[in-house]
Amino acid sequence: MGLSTAERVFLFVRCPNCETKSVDKPLAWLIGKDEMICPNCRALINLESGDNGLRIQKLARTCAEIDQSISELDESRL
Ligand SMILES: [Zn+2]
Repeated sequence: MGLSTAERVFLFVRCPNCETKSVDKPLAWLIGKDEMICPNCRALINLESGDNGLRIQKLARTCAEIDQSISELDESRL
């Protein structure tokens, strides 16, 4: 069993404090978190709501759809 799409996909997280220096994180890691500390400026970044929360939720849904499509393809080849 390989990695899920969410484990392979990295999302650019925007820090409200230092937007230009924000950071890439694996989507699977982000899905399990409410917030994270910005590695650049130590500000608390909210991952549940706002712009980051919306992007994480949308991408999580898309990744789940990709995994579903791939598993359907695999089943149809059995
Ligand atoms: Zn920052």
